[in-house]
Amino acid sequence: MAALPTARVERLIYPVSFYRVKARHVRETCRQILSRFGGRVPATMEDLLTLPGVGRKTANLVLILSHASRDNICVDTHVHRMANRLGWVRTRTPTETEHALYTVVPRRWWPRVNLYLVTWGQHVCRPVYPRCGACVVSPLCPRVGVTKVGK
Ligand code: SF4
Repeated sequence: MAALPTARVERLIYPVSFYRVKARHVRETCRQILSRFGGRVPATMEDLLTLPGVGRKTANLVLILSHASRDNICVDTHVHRMANRLGWVRTRTPTETEHALYTVVPRRWWPRVNLYLVTWGQHVCRPVYPRCGACVVSPLCPRVGVTKVGK
């Protein structure tokens, strides 16, 4: 990957959003993994955050998926939104949500929070017009901040 031209990486990861920027980051990250980490993906949050384009969301996901960590929660926009709608947390940013979730989610679920909530957030608890009428957890959900629902 590090040896490929950026245009080739762009074609490989298309159609992910912002694929041009991400292709540059992927290529540079691969180079740094070779030059700084001996060809092994770093296994600490501190090291991962030094790589281009890597924030806490990506770092947590890498620790969970690549290093089988059970000590991390990966929070993206879906997890942040749903955790607030469900009333689990009251936070303004994904980083705040991540830290708050460590205190309210039972530890055994930490690595799987992202998988379940992202899928739910894409199809049911959508950013705009969540489908509360079709939602199986509707009776349990306080719908914090939800003003309009969809079909
Ligand atoms: S009831 Fe509505 S707000 Fe609550 S989780 Fe379901 S879709 Fe989201």
